[in-house]
Formats: sequence, structure tokens, C-alpha cells
Amino acid sequence: MPSVFIKTYGCQMNERDSEAVAAQLVAKGYTLAPSETVADVVLLNTCSVRDFAEKKAIGKMQNLAADVRKNRPNVVLGFMGCMAQSRGQELIDKLPDVDLVLGTQKFHHAADYLDEILTGHRDKIVDVAAESGSEATIREHLLYGNIARNGDGHRPPLQITAYVSIMQGCNQRCTFCIVPDTRGEERSRSIPDIVAECRQLVSQGVKEITLLGQIVTSYGKRGGSSREPENFLPSTLDARPSTTKTPFVQLLEAVHEIEGLQRIRFTSPHPKGYGDDLIEAYARLPKLVESAHLPVQSGSDRVLKLMHRGYTRERFLGLIKKLRRARPDIGITTDIIVGFPGETEDDFELTLSLAREVEFDNAYLFKYSPRRDTPAAEMPDQVPLKIREERNHRLLETINEIGKRKYDAFVGRRTQILVEGPSRKNPARMTGRTRCNKIVVFEGSERHRGQLLDVKITRAGSFTLYGDPAILGED
Ligand code: SAM
Repeated sequence: MPSVFIKTYGCQMNERDSEAVAAQLVAKGYTLAPSETVADVVLLNTCSVRDFAEKKAIGKMQNLAADVRKNRPNVVLGFMGCMAQSRGQELIDKLPDVDLVLGTQKFHHAADYLDEILTGHRDKIVDVAAESGSEATIREHLLYGNIARNGDGHRPPLQITAYVSIMQGCNQRCTFCIVPDTRGEERSRSIPDIVAECRQLVSQGVKEITLLGQIVTSYGKRGGSSREPENFLPSTLDARPSTTKTPFVQLLEAVHEIEGLQRIRFTSPHPKGYGDDLIEAYARLPKLVESAHLPVQSGSDRVLKLMHRGYTRERFLGLIKKLRRARPDIGITTDIIVGFPGETEDDFELTLSLAREVEFDNAYLFKYSPRRDTPAAEMPDQVPLKIREERNHRLLETINEIGKRKYDAFVGRRTQILVEGPSRKNPARMTGRTRCNKIVVFEGSERHRGQLLDVKITRAGSFTLYGDPAILGED
């Protein structure tokens, strides 16, 4: 059977989609190639959020195509994901060596389409149509890596943590963002369907689940495989009196009931979707870890309005206060865009001051990138690249300075981690995560994988902690 290599660009949603496609192909007998240079099929799972991400994937495909044309003409090349969705046929017109373009609602057809191409029944395939029910098709996992198809249920899985896709699409229409076009309208899976997938993962040894969606706080509000609100309820909650809890909080409660599951995370929420029921859930559900990724985008109300974000600086700060009241140790990260059209130096100063006031544990900074067919791309007063770069640099310095202080404060403390496996940078060491989502590297061994371990933090590096397994009774 052929081997496949999938390279992923972009967010965790893309990581999850790639995993589901890889698992689908492994189930059909494919092997996972260690690199693109030896694979029979190379798929690039793309991101469209910024121009840079698109350029990187196109550049990569150009190099692959040149190599394949010269040395390995039978290799199948494909684009999938967000850029495949937004550009479709245009990608094959530009890069004629590409055989497959698979949109964001079509991942579950990957094996069939590759089969048709590999057996010579079809030459090129472009499928970017909408498909009803596709939100419930991202469900296969690859817990055992390349050996999954041997089905050795007793082997501890390589993955202790798993992502579960709970919905697809986005209806927010932020003026900078291309995602509503690449991912379509919001569609949610039902609670019983999601819970069944989580249960299955836990029965295979998974200890931590991250619920994924473009805007998870909108879960269950619109359309999807189960349109009636009552169909979102798991059977155990059916008998409860009518509730004002959002479907997302009901989902958290249902997943929380799964025996053997140790930790629940989710990403990304929208600040305006953070109601009191969700804050209260943080205080009430012990498996819901004290960690929140809350994309703020800007600290200026004027810019937030232009972005169409639907909250103010004051409301965002109020939310952070409530979260810290509910869980004082909560780790808070964010996304920030610098140089949005019309952003003045004063607006940018407000973003800097917001970062200082909140003291984010970390932040992902994005230089604004005009995206086609988005309102912001047509707005006046586009900020020159040089200024965007300079602001990005200044904000990064502030974020790093705050991060350093926050990470240094952990030194000498004991904290619980869930051990995930060998460290990527140094496989001789093990790595785990605190509940507040900080990576801890320590001297350990395979026997620690999957354990909830108390460690004493001995040193802090750049957004990484180093620790020793704590010995009981020692302070
Ligand atoms: N759920 C998130 C939210 O609440 O907005 C959106 C996730 S988006 C895929 C990841 C991040 O990319 C956004 O939070 C935003 O900071 C950044 N982003 C999106 N469009 C962008 C653009 N045109 N230029 C620069 N950054 C962008």
C-alpha cells in the first residue's frame, strides 16, 4: 500500500483535520511516511488566515512539484483545508502537478479520491462543495501512530491528550477574517455524538480532551447534525428541568461525567460568548482546567468596533476579573492583531496597556494581513508594513517581559502535570503540562507517560518550565 505524508499549516483545527485524514488513510492500509521525500502521497493541509501562511504552502508545493516532476513522477500531490477551499481549481491552474484539491467539508473523502487517482480512474480532483453533515465527520484518531492498524488495544497510546472537533464554521464575520468563507456557516455535532467519541478515547487511554471549534462558545446555537435543541442533551441530562445554560456548558457537563477522563480544555472561545454560566462552570467542574485562550485582538474600543468584535475593552477586562475570581490560578493567553487598518499610535498604546493590565501568560501576535473579500481589506488608512512590524516587535517585547515574570514565579513551587511523552527538543527528557497550560520538561522515562505527576519547578526558560518529580513530604 502507498505511504502518505501530511504537512500541516495553521491552527489546532487544522492539526485535528490532518490527524483524522491520516487515521482514515491508515485504516485503509496506508503507512505514514517519515518525510515528504519518501512518500507516495504528499498532502499539504493549508491555512488562509494570513497571506504569509498561503505563500509558505504554495512555495512548498512548488518545490515538491519540481522534485516530483524530475525524480518521482508517480507521486500524488494534494492541497487540502482552508486555502484549498478558498482557491479551488485556481491551485491546479497555477500548479499543474497538483492532483487533488480537497475543501474543508470534504476531508472524509480523502481515501476514496486518492484511490481513484492512484488507480488511474481519475486524473485530477477538485472538490470544495458544501456538504451537509460534514461537521460530524472529523472523528478518527491516530492514538497509536503508524501502528494503529495492528489494533493492539493493550499498548498504551502514544497520545495521552486528544483534540475533539465539536463544530465547524464561523458566523462572526469579524472584518479581518477569511474563516467564515473557508470554513462555512457554524454547524455543531450533537452532545451524544461528541460524548461517544470522548468515551471511546478515554477507554483507549486518553486522559485529557480539548474540545475544538472556531468559536466554541457558539456551540449548538445554530444548525448542524442535530438542529433541535433537545437533541443536544445527553440522555443523563434529559430529565433535568429547563435550563438557561448554553449548549456549550451543557456539553462541558456531559463530557465532565466521563469516568477516567482527567482534564478538559477547549479552544477557541469568543470573549462575547463568555456568559456567567461558563464562568460558573470553571468554578464548579474540577476537570475543566484553569486555562483560557481568549482572543482579544485589540485594546482599543475604536479598533474593536472596526473589527466587528462585539465587546469593549471594559467588558473584556471585566471578564478576566470574573475568571480570576472563579479560578485565581487561571492561565490566560490571547491573540492580538497589530496594525489593523486605521490603528493609530494611541490605539496601539491601548493594546500595550491592556496587555500590561491583564498580564497574559502568553499571546500570539499577528501583523494584520489583508484578506481578499473581507471588509477590512477595503478600509481606508491601511497601516504600512514597516509600522506593523515595529508595533509587533514592541508588543512582543512586552508580552515576553510579562511572560518571563509569570514563568519565573513558578520556580520553587510544586505543581501537577499530566505527562504527555518525550520532549520534542530533547527526546531523552519527558514533557508534561500544568493545568494552566504551561509546558514542563523533566528527567523522566516512558513509565511516566499518562501519569498525573507532582513536580517541583526548578527553573524557568522562555515559555517553558523545568522540574523535578516532587518527593512526598519534601517541601
Ligand atoms: N476564534 C478566534 C477569534 O475569536 O477570533 C479566531 C481564530 S483565527 C483562526 C486565529 C487568529 O488569527 C485570530 O484570533 C486573529 O488574531 C488572527 N487573524 C485572523 N485574521 C487575520 C488577518 N487578516 N490578519 C492577521 N491576523 C489574523
